[in-house]
Amino acid sequence: MTDFLSNEQLQKLVPLFLDWNTKLNLSAIRDEASVREKHVQDSLLLGDFLNLGDQRLRVLDLGTGGGFPSLPLACVYPNLRFTAVDSVGKKLKAVQSMADELEVKLRTQHGRIEELGQDAQYREQFDLVLARALAPWPVLLEYALPFVRVGGRFVAYQGPGVREDLENFTGLEAKLGGKIVKVHETSLGDSERVFVVIKKVAQTSRKYPRANGVPRKQPLQ
Ligand code: SAH
Repeated sequence: MTDFLSNEQLQKLVPLFLDWNTKLNLSAIRDEASVREKHVQDSLLLGDFLNLGDQRLRVLDLGTGGGFPSLPLACVYPNLRFTAVDSVGKKLKAVQSMADELEVKLRTQHGRIEELGQDAQYREQFDLVLARALAPWPVLLEYALPFVRVGGRFVAYQGPGVREDLENFTGLEAKLGGKIVKVHETSLGDSERVFVVIKKVAQTSRKYPRANGVPRKQPLQ
């Protein structure tokens, strides 16, 4: 676990986020200790089981909201290049402003995941795709896998409920070109956290992601 005191940018991020949160209502988590644990430390759990330190990966954070998990990760891993996507412009303005103030490598992209996933500038262009609290499991797979380059990975930040999803949607990742390579289970405070790592082993069919709103209305089986 990254020591807050040793990372100046992480130390600055917490008050910066609290300030934007009072202006824009980015998150229901409002006190400093909870922001540290439930947003910042949670985001950084990724580094406990993936080697992120010495590569120059292109990383995409889908549905970044107030900047999680990408903002804390950008503070700790200056070697990574982050793009953070959301359909809500005001959230992205806050995220870009925090990134600029912290001088971390993160750019924001406003738009719908369904559209960006069909855009050649984004489709199959990322070494690592991340998503936390974005969508139900089948929707998440349809959203995320089109962005991952073949050979790259998607890591989903999940809770214990994903175990049931993995049973109910067996093989769905394969339909989208993915292969589950790891399920990493850990805990943070009193919450159980489960990370699912999916490797992109084949291109995703051009059919996916389907048009705006369709993945949520008619989730894949
Ligand atoms: N990842 C953040 C925020 C989770 S809330 C965190 O863990 O705290 C989910 C976010 O995803 C919201 O900000 C919402 O605007 C965005 N989102 C949901 N569906 C989307 C879509 N189809 N395209 C773009 N953004 C989307």
